[in-house]
Amino acid sequence: MANLATRSSRLMLVACLSLGTLVATTFCIAEPAALAAKPAKKKRGKFAGHGVKQGKLRTEPLARPSGWVHVTHPGLHEEVKVNIYKADGSLDESALAALDSVFRCRRTKETRAVDPRLYEVLSMIYDHFGQRPVQLASGFRYQRNEGSRHFHASAMDVTVKGVSYRDMYAFASTLDRGGMGIGQYPRDGFVHIDFRAPGEPSYRWTDTGSKKGASGRLPSRMFKKRSTRPST
Ligand SMILES: [Zn+2]
Repeated sequence: MANLATRSSRLMLVACLSLGTLVATTFCIAEPAALAAKPAKKKRGKFAGHGVKQGKLRTEPLARPSGWVHVTHPGLHEEVKVNIYKADGSLDESALAALDSVFRCRRTKETRAVDPRLYEVLSMIYDHFGQRPVQLASGFRYQRNEGSRHFHASAMDVTVKGVSYRDMYAFASTLDRGGMGIGQYPRDGFVHIDFRAPGEPSYRWTDTGSKKGASGRLPSRMFKKRSTRPST
């Protein structure tokens, strides 16, 4: 019995030593890789953001747009052109639904009721830049990073052919009466426009990195792949 106990203790000691060696080996292997990854991280670009002083925000009310929204989603190969207003001036729910569909999460196909203020901004962009279609790079994202306004269906990444991201960024900034987030992405060439959470102040940023492939964009952990769903 005593022998058996000694034997198992020895076995455990051997196991611990082996594990220690394994950890040490893994550590040694991992270190040069981590060092090598450093320059690549630099390449990813920089994020520079700032709040917006009250005096820089729009004080006068926004003129009502035509209501026309023309969105293309090159990634989904879809296009929607609708007027978000009914004849009586109220929001047209069927037009919003058509836009919600093109704003759906590209990875998970989940659809959400998008903040209609974004659609009004889209109509203002449409009116301002000569009624050209707005290309949607990203709308709602059912993603892992829940801090993103995309996750809350109140953000969009947009471009307009023939309009520089700088002009788009400048124009979007004139629409902010408080509570908007506007970011420019020179590398991807789009402008991010969002409506922040209630009470959250306006924010501006420039991100010279590319958002493509960012881990925060992986599907939400709440998302379950429906393998039984017919592929339509
Ligand atoms: Zn965005």
